[in-house]
Order: sequence, then C-alpha cells, then structure tokens
Amino acid sequence: KLLIDGQLVDSEQRLDIIDPASGTVYTTVPRASKADADNAIAAARIAQPAWAALKLAERRECLNLFADIVKEHADELARSLVQEQGKPLAEARMEIAFTEIFIRHFAQIELPVDVVQDDDDFRIEVHHKALGVVVGITPWNFPVLISLFKVAPALLLGNTFILKPSPTTPVTVLKIAALAKDIFPRGVFNVLVDANDLGAYLSAHADVAKISFTGSTATGKKIMQGAASTLKRLTLELGGNDAGIILGDVDIASVAQKIFDSAFFNCGQVCIAMKRVYAHASIYDELCAALAKIADATQVGNGLAEGTQIGPLQNAMQFEKAQHFLRIAAQDGKIVAGGAVLDSAGYFVRPTIVRDIADGSELVDVEQFAPILPIIKFHDVEEAITRANALSYGLGGSVWSADIDKAYTIARRMESGTVWVNHHLHFGPHIPFAGAKESGIGVEFSVEGLKEFSQTAVISIAKK
Ligand code: NAD
Repeated sequence: KLLIDGQLVDSEQRLDIIDPASGTVYTTVPRASKADADNAIAAARIAQPAWAALKLAERRECLNLFADIVKEHADELARSLVQEQGKPLAEARMEIAFTEIFIRHFAQIELPVDVVQDDDDFRIEVHHKALGVVVGITPWNFPVLISLFKVAPALLLGNTFILKPSPTTPVTVLKIAALAKDIFPRGVFNVLVDANDLGAYLSAHADVAKISFTGSTATGKKIMQGAASTLKRLTLELGGNDAGIILGDVDIASVAQKIFDSAFFNCGQVCIAMKRVYAHASIYDELCAALAKIADATQVGNGLAEGTQIGPLQNAMQFEKAQHFLRIAAQDGKIVAGGAVLDSAGYFVRPTIVRDIADGSELVDVEQFAPILPIIKFHDVEEAITRANALSYGLGGSVWSADIDKAYTIARRMESGTVWVNHHLHFGPHIPFAGAKESGIGVEFSVEGLKEFSQTAVISIAKK
C-alpha cells in the first residue's frame, strides 16, 4: 500500500514488479495517481508546521524508533530487497544495516545556531529552519538506503517528506512505510509509487519546497527545468563514470581484488563504482590477467542462492543496455573474461573484463552501469590524469600507488567530488558526498548535507 497522510492507501491501477533473477512478475503494488500526489502534498503541508514545532528531542526520538524498526525487521527486509533488486543477500543485508546506521547518525547530528558576531553593536545569529515539503526521488540500485538517507536528515530539521522510489524497486520501502506508519504524526512521511510519470509533476508542484534527487544525469536535468518555475531547492546526485588510475608501482596481488570489487559490487550498478581503469603500461598485462582470473572465478546467480557473488542486472532495460555494451566491447577491445549472458531466465551477465580499448569507445566514455569493465593502457601519468578528467562526469575517482605522497598529488588534480587513494567506493554519513561537473549539484551526508534541507535564516539584533 501507499502511505498518504498516515493511512495505507490502495489504488485502482497496479504496477507489476519483476524478480530480475527470473524475469517474471512476482507481485504488484499500487500505482499512485496525480490525485494521490496532491493528497500527499496537501497532507505533508498541513503536517509540517506542527512537526517543525516539536522539540528537536522528539523528532530525534521518532528517527530512533524508525531505525529500530529497520533493525528489528532487517532479515525480512533484506530478503525482500534481493527479490526486487537482485543483489546477493549479503549485500542486501549490508544495505539494510547501512540504512539503520544512516538514520541513527542523523537522529543524533547537531546543527547549532552559529553566532557570527556578538559585540557592543550587534548580535547576529545564523539559524537553519525547515524548508517545508521535501520530495525525494530515488533510483533502483540501492532503493532502501538512498531513499531513507534522504528522509532522515529532512525530517530531523522539521520538514515533511514525500518519497517516490523507482517504479522497479518500490516493494521494500513500502514495507518499511507500513511498519513505520504510526511512528510519525500523520502526513509527516508519505510514500508514492508511480510508473515513471509522477516525478515531473512533483518537481514542478508549487507546494513542494525542495527536491532531493538521486538518479541519472538526464533525469536530473529535466528535474532542474521542472523546478525552475518555482525556484525550488535542489540536491541532485547524478551519474558517474569514475576513473581508477593504477600506477606502475602497485603490488598486483594485493590490489587486483580490491579493484575488481570496486567495479563489480552490485553488478556494477553503483554510481561510484570504478567504471574506467587506467593502468600503467608496465603492469597492464599482469593487471588484466589478474582481473580476468577473478572474473572467471566469480559465481553469478540468484541473490538468494548460497555462494552467489554477483546477481542479475536490476531490470530489462538495463539488461538490454548491458548487452549493447558487450557488443561494443567486442568491437572496440578484446574481451578477456566474461562477455556473455547466462543461458538461463533472468537478467544475468558474466563479469566482463575488456582490454586493448581506448577513450572514444562508448564503453569508456559513457556510464555503463553494468558488470563490464574497460582497462585502458597509459605510459605517462599526465596522460592518464588528462583522460580521467576529460569527461563531463565528476562523481568519484581513485589513484592507486605504493607511494602515497605521489598518489595524493595526483588525487588533488582529479576533477571529482571524491577521490580515494588505494581504495574506492567508500562513503559514510559523516563524509560529505558531492558530485562535480555533470555528476551533481549540492552535497549529501554530514552537516553540509544536512544544511541542504534547511533555509539559512539570519537574526540580526542591534544593541544600540
Ligand atoms: P533514473 O534517472 O532513470 O530514475 C531515477 C528516478 O527518477 C526514478 O524514481 C524515476 O521514476 C524518476 N524519474 C524518471 N523520470 C523523471 C522525470 N522526468 N522527473 C522526475 N523524476 C523522474 O535513474 P535510474 O536508472 O533509476 O538510476 C541509475 C542512475 O542513477 C545512474 O546514472 C547512476 O549513476 C545514478 N545514481 C547516482 C547516485 C549518486 O549518488 N550520484 C547514486 C545512485 C545512482
């Protein structure tokens, strides 16, 4: 059921939800209409002043109860997540555990009033007030974590929330909404499911103060256009095409598995996955061979099956895209591992390593979001930095070397919101996360991210 104004609501139309491991429909969920969206926005608007007027400690308490619910039902929620998303059960458990951690982090975070001047003339304070109704629009790769790490900070500051998950992965957040229905006052937390047709309506709605969006760069641009007429606040976390620069001094035996994991986690469907590897010529052959060996040994299958390391792609469209990239890989490079779909039902692709490929190939220049990794050879590190920075993406990136000072110097020259040294794909609720260039606008997590759910409000008192 949808959650609108504290009630679990059904709808006339329903959406089919497909298990990506079988490619067949396993359940249906209600599909919200524009009237449902209007009801949710109206309820959130009515509820907001009273929610913001509660003591901060009371909102913290609600968020802690919310985290308790996620923890209490973790096993059931993780299994539900595998069925709709496809990821291996261990990764689903990790996503649910992280969700609890993020909610708890925002339940206790402090955003004190900042006194910027206090002298004989003036006392000037900077407060952070709620914005009003916030809409969260989220993707299908981490449907629970990405949704709830937007809800928690927004609610803490006294905003009310409408969550619109991706139409292909709404089930687990609907379950959480049903479990959490009575924690918050009615109208404070609402969940709508659409068929990719309500996001634009919500983005343009006059009674919505802010959109917090995670998804593709193309959709982010549409949201920005839709939000322009009402000058809504926006946080856009968009696509990435992270480069990993591997210098010639690395120990292949100790880095190969880490590089593989940063590229193939969640079947490559991670915004901050390593999506292009630039490897120095002196270790190129050895690294390609080591990655191919790991790929060949990887168990691909149903996320609920024992031993599965990589599950299916999440949906049919992504599966089609992956097959397109397999054709590009064969045409523009040399496939040294994988290269095929599984001969079974479901959206399975073997982890694929592609060598002897160069920039300019679609597999390198476009975010593939699939388990297909191009390895590009470089001779001079300046060349690798230039290529890594050449695209319009700027989400993450990494530099790998035995010489940390050297890697650090290169890291500082990379045009990305986050650059890791000797690791990749690491994040946490206390670390600001921001996309550079067309990978996003604004920040999530930490106090910086929290502030994005607020209106800066200065109070300036004349003392004379
Ligand atoms: P998507 O942009 O297709 O969809 C994301 C959400 O937007 C869905 O809920 C969808 O229903 C909604 N939507 C679709 N059309 C809309 C419109 N016109 N207006 C408003 N909302 C609309 O993205 P996806 O395919 O679900 O997710 C994959 C993409 O997300 C990748 O590009 C990935 O890199 C990116 N992503 C980024 C981050 C990050 O933090 N930067 C994290 C995860 C995923």
